[in-house]
Amino acid sequence: MVAREARAGERPVQEAGSAGCGYNSAVRVVVIGGGIIGLLCAYHLRRLGAEVVVLERQRVGAACSAGNAGWVTPSISTPVPAPGLRTKMLRWMLRPDSPLYIRPAAALGMLGWLLDFWKHCNAADFSAGAAAFAALAADTLALYDELAADGVEFESRSDGLLMAFRDPAEQAEELALLEALAYGPLRVLDADELCDLEPALASGLAGGIHILPERCVRPEQVCAATAEHLRRDGTRIEETCEVEHLLLEGHRAHAAKTPTEEVEADAFVIATGAEASRLAAQCGSPLPLQAGKGYSVTITRPRIELRYPLYLGSSKIGVTPFAGALRVAGTMELSGINLRLDGRRVAALKRGAEREIPGVLAGGEAVEWVGLRPMTPDGLPILGRLATCDNVFVATGHQMLGVTLAPSTGKAMAQLIVEGRSEVDLEPFAASRFGRRG
Ligand SMILES: Cc1cc2nc3c(=O)[nH]c(=O)nc-3n(C[C@H](O)[C@H](O)[C@H](O)COP(=O)(O)OP(=O)(O)OC[C@H]3O[C@@H](n4cnc5c(N)ncnc54)[C@H](O)[C@@H]3O)c2cc1C
Repeated sequence: MVAREARAGERPVQEAGSAGCGYNSAVRVVVIGGGIIGLLCAYHLRRLGAEVVVLERQRVGAACSAGNAGWVTPSISTPVPAPGLRTKMLRWMLRPDSPLYIRPAAALGMLGWLLDFWKHCNAADFSAGAAAFAALAADTLALYDELAADGVEFESRSDGLLMAFRDPAEQAEELALLEALAYGPLRVLDADELCDLEPALASGLAGGIHILPERCVRPEQVCAATAEHLRRDGTRIEETCEVEHLLLEGHRAHAAKTPTEEVEADAFVIATGAEASRLAAQCGSPLPLQAGKGYSVTITRPRIELRYPLYLGSSKIGVTPFAGALRVAGTMELSGINLRLDGRRVAALKRGAEREIPGVLAGGEAVEWVGLRPMTPDGLPILGRLATCDNVFVATGHQMLGVTLAPSTGKAMAQLIVEGRSEVDLEPFAASRFGRRG
């Protein structure tokens, strides 16, 4: 482990905590957490000339960034708390097979968070959040192209996202939302057009929407290939290396403490997903994060060949065809930080997918997976500097959009850390917004 004493106490030219870091030589950054967010932060930091070390508790890309649906959907990047969700929440929350389940035993411990989430289910917050997402997601497709052009190899397809609805009212609701957000281009499909486009769908569906610019990637490959690219580039990536805490001196951190060493740096990025609050709290800035547990089932050698990534609107399930595999993903469970796999929810996921795509689960091996989405009560990620620590930054809270937003998050965070400001306005994502609201 190289800890470079000569630079450990080096002061930035410009006082960190004001506009930015303004370091007078390559800034050394420790990225804590090697999920898709941490890895893309590391990638963009390297591009801006930083020296980067990634410290990951288990294996890079093995947590929430592994078994997700892999959609890159800037057009439908909106906060989870939405107008109309309150009624649905009341209907769903205590049913273990519903799209959103709150485990009663865990609910008590998250009452404050739930109340805040509830408050944000209104039109004004939703529109403001959607606008902030639109700005952040604007260049994500181009950044994925740049990543691929830079030699990071991953499976990717660009034929859009197909939404299928059993209930015409749900189709109309989704369309109204997309139109209100002024997204496009999209095609509205009646039942026949939908079945022509995707013959594997069951009969009796009401219609669909084809959102043309959307993409999907194989998320495990994005993580593995980005890590490989970073290693080739000389970046140190430590796996099975948990950061226990940050070593602080006044309002600055000077090292990340792992069980075996102290890794010194000029700046630190907490990108530990749903668990980011622990390290942030230790720096004096607890963050209101909950884990939004989701499930997926990945079938190898699927018997059904889907033409498009599908969103099954009536059951809130995503189905993504990959090369030689197919993944059914969805459900949101608020039950705290744990990876317990609830068989009832997996069964509901499978039932919902089978109902809309008969035979979808037939094929080779089926791998069941569970992951914890980092959830904030206002539905926006937390991106920026901690108010209590001048050189500690946080990048988490991407909810259902971490794959979509990873490249743009990485770029914005790298600009903030190395250049002192990012092209994207990060104010809506500031960690301090929670403190401000008390
Ligand atoms: C079912 C499901 C489907 C989804 N589908 C999509 C989709 O289609 N499109 C999309 O955009 N998003 C999707 N998401 C959301 C997306 O998966 C997440 O937003 C994203 O993976 C979060 O990435 P992350 O890097 O913040 O967290 P993680 O991937 O969880 O990474 C955090 C990392 O930090 C490490 N860590 C934690 N504590 C420490 C510590 N103290 N020291 C060192 N390391 C530590 C962990 O081991 C972990 O590897 C889906 C999620 C689920 C559950």
